Amino acid sequence: MALQMKNEAKIKFTELAELDKKHFLHPSTSIRQHVENGPGFIFTEGEGIYLKDIRGRKLIDSLSSLWNVNIGHGRAELGQAAAEQMSKLAFSSTFGGNSHEPVIELAKKVAEWTPGDLNTTFFTSGGSESNDTAFKTARHYWKVKGQPNKTKIISRRLSYHGVAMGSTSATGIEPFREFTTSLAQGFLYVDSSIESLRALIEEEGAESIAAFISEPIQGSGGVNLPPKDYFKEVREMCDKHDILFIADEVICGFGRTGEKFGMDLFGVVPDIICMAKGISSGYAPIGGMVISDKIKKELMENYAGNFWHGYTYSGHPMCCAVALKNLEIIENENMVENVRNMGAELQKGLKYLEEKHDNLGNRRGAGLLGAIEFFKNVETKERYAEPVSAKVVAKALDRGLLGRSIVYGGQDTLAFAPPFCITKEEVGTIISIIDDSIAEVKKER
Ligand code: PMP
Repeated sequence: MALQMKNEAKIKFTELAELDKKHFLHPSTSIRQHVENGPGFIFTEGEGIYLKDIRGRKLIDSLSSLWNVNIGHGRAELGQAAAEQMSKLAFSSTFGGNSHEPVIELAKKVAEWTPGDLNTTFFTSGGSESNDTAFKTARHYWKVKGQPNKTKIISRRLSYHGVAMGSTSATGIEPFREFTTSLAQGFLYVDSSIESLRALIEEEGAESIAAFISEPIQGSGGVNLPPKDYFKEVREMCDKHDILFIADEVICGFGRTGEKFGMDLFGVVPDIICMAKGISSGYAPIGGMVISDKIKKELMENYAGNFWHGYTYSGHPMCCAVALKNLEIIENENMVENVRNMGAELQKGLKYLEEKHDNLGNRRGAGLLGAIEFFKNVETKERYAEPVSAKVVAKALDRGLLGRSIVYGGQDTLAFAPPFCITKEEVGTIISIIDDSIAEVKKER
């Protein structure tokens, strides 16, 4: 019986894999390799930190999929919230000032989470749209204030801000920008030092700069923390030069770092916060841009026209209902506290690996966001000719762990961002799988 089921699953997998190869263009995937090899896994179920595939393999989702399934997989309450909302009101427009209950409640809930006077949210379907919205809003703001030449947007090298035209242009990971030919105008990049920002502002002239955007901790770029006091100095510099400070909290927002928002770690309140992923833990596609009362007042008092920007799905009722339920779960189950406690366990585990394996260093992170890096020589920071992290991830997959290696900018990083519901034992399992995988890669060299 079990054997028969296994065979049926295999046949089903093969059928689906063929269709996938033929009809589905995968994001961030080599088309050629995919058409040759087909999908690695076809997932069917998820529970807690685990994903299950159609052939019955159970894998630890050590990055919460795309740093987004924060409450963990399989929470039926979110499905119920979606079903209830869709049966009652699947959709109504929020253009022209109409509204509905879930969007009003969610906007209020977001304002409870966000710091300072950031109290008003524009909703989108994800992070890229949120960042593009912020860039347009920043430029509109300066136009309204009588400074239409303040248009340039500064971002940091190795930043990831998404793949819409503006957010691609702001992204500091080069392959994403080089994928296409012409990008949006007026995007500039700096190194992660305050001197680099100061020099660029001087060179370009503050009167031409609309905004600075940064993730609190760079995610896709390698879980990179900024130098100490960096954001405090950025905040001061932005204030001094009338530059809006946009925080891309798409990964860090809603508890990932053990704080409500990543910028809370650095004691800084931005002018605009962009969010997505964690607001719904990936159960529905929704993001948002939150503006300060100061910005809102300006746009309200000195401009009578429309906010000429809106997505059909800005404030989609089902997405809002799901996000509300997600935030309720995070609050009721004290998940941010668990992020802090389990984040400490994760760092302990990474420290253990660093002490045990002489080719590991540069351990970093905050909350349930962590990383460690391979070096041929940790002291001199000499790297291997071929990255080791990808090989370790492949070995870890054999042992039931879906991992993430990051090699942008010449680094050789293993990144971790497990769901907030993770237990101490599960953190231990991740560390021991990585430990064994490193040992196996070493043996093969
Ligand atoms: N900003 C950051 C910091 C991100 O990590 C991502 C997604 N990885 C985005 C923006 C883009 O979000 P989305 O994929 O939802 O458009």
